[in-house]
Amino acid sequence: MVVQKTVVVGAGPVGALAAIYAARRGDEVEIYELRGDLRDPDTTLLNFTRSINLALSERGINSMRKAECPGLLESVLDETIPMYGRMIHGSQNGQNTQEAQLYDVRGRFLRAIDRSSLNTRLLDELESMPNVKFFFHHKLVGADFKNNVAWFEHLKTAAQQATSTTTSSGNREVEVKFDLMIGADGAHSAVRYHMMKYARMDYMQEYIDTLWCEFRMDPAPHSENDGFKIPPNYLHIWPGKEFMFIAIPSLDKSFTCTLFLPADGFAELDANPDRLVPFFQKHFPGVVPDLISEEALQRQFSENPHLPLISIKCSPYHYGSSAVILGDAAHAMVPFYGQGMNAGLEDVRVLYDCLDQFSPPADKEPETATALDASNYALVNGDPVARTNARARALDAYSALRRPDAHTINDLALRNYVEMRSDVTSPLYRLRKAVEEW
Ligand code: FAD
Repeated sequence: MVVQKTVVVGAGPVGALAAIYAARRGDEVEIYELRGDLRDPDTTLLNFTRSINLALSERGINSMRKAECPGLLESVLDETIPMYGRMIHGSQNGQNTQEAQLYDVRGRFLRAIDRSSLNTRLLDELESMPNVKFFFHHKLVGADFKNNVAWFEHLKTAAQQATSTTTSSGNREVEVKFDLMIGADGAHSAVRYHMMKYARMDYMQEYIDTLWCEFRMDPAPHSENDGFKIPPNYLHIWPGKEFMFIAIPSLDKSFTCTLFLPADGFAELDANPDRLVPFFQKHFPGVVPDLISEEALQRQFSENPHLPLISIKCSPYHYGSSAVILGDAAHAMVPFYGQGMNAGLEDVRVLYDCLDQFSPPADKEPETATALDASNYALVNGDPVARTNARARALDAYSALRRPDAHTINDLALRNYVEMRSDVTSPLYRLRKAVEEW
């Protein structure tokens, strides 16, 4: 039997799910991750604080379901909180107001999930698979996609650097061969960068003029909302036309809150910290000091990073039979549609649908009669060249199928920023929603 070696670059949610799919097909799987194991408390997570909360939707859930790992999806869903709609906060005649807008008349909902706990569940699943090996602290630094070989720098950990007696970095370079490389290494993907030298890839990136900063709203042990300060089953929004503040519930009964504000606004508040509280009191009624104290707001604003938002479109997502990029590496998007990770998880499902169709694992029949004729199927199982060609056809099909959907989701994400920060308050929007619900 021919065993395919799949190298996954990036152990974020998308890379981890892709590795699970590859391992379930019987591939020999190696995962290379720049940082340490996120389950290790000493690991620092670049760009994300440990607490970032995401909205998990059917796209992502279905992709985990299709991985067919007993108990995996249930254990992920156990750590989520349903959000049935948005709660829009405002003020009228000096009174704070809140208005619930349901996501779906049939009661379908999003789920709030902690990104690290989702990632941890996926890594735990991989840990239990005998054909999977992890390589943490490994940074992709080069790749030759014609000859299926890549180079990783094995980085010293902070602890190793602290005890090192030499002044050189002491990092080692490791050469790795593969049949298929899956690049799930995020928005600043090194796999994409190296793939561009081989594939005729169109590429576009855009930084929007908005930064984000995270805050925490502590639990309220004796509140009427089961220990949360505000009703937990909603995504709370304080719209502000050009900016907004949102809050997503966490299992520990806190809320993870995010301020989205144009870069000039952040610069203004950085230069004049005394304006932060009045800014919140004017634009986000009820937040300070009822939900977050003045001291906590000021401290978190100055301590937590103010991070940019990038939107990336590219095409194709693969080169020949040897490499494919998924998730943010292929289509980083602004977070306003809550679909970045969900779309990345869906990439995995669609990719493996294509591989199953054109290049099934050695012990499986092709899924459709049209995919491969009998002689080709025999070749695929016995002959490595035919197998490589079949994988190339699968990756071709994947890029063709995924590009229009991914580009559309990127566009919708940009459009939804206007809806969330502004349209949700307009009478026309409410009328449209009312008609839809009726
Ligand atoms: P990442 O999570 O970026 O993981 C990439 C991994 O690759 C990292 O572990 C990194 O260390 C590793 N890596 C990078 N370079 C290398 C290298 N050279 N060699 C080896 N490894 C490397 N999405 C949703 O679906 N719902 C939401 O509600 C939502 N909210 C969001 C809110 C905010 C404020 C932001 C910023 C994003 C939000 N997203 C949301 C988007 C979501 O976070 C991303 O789409 C998702 O994390 C992408 O996953 P990924 O695995 O593709 O990439």
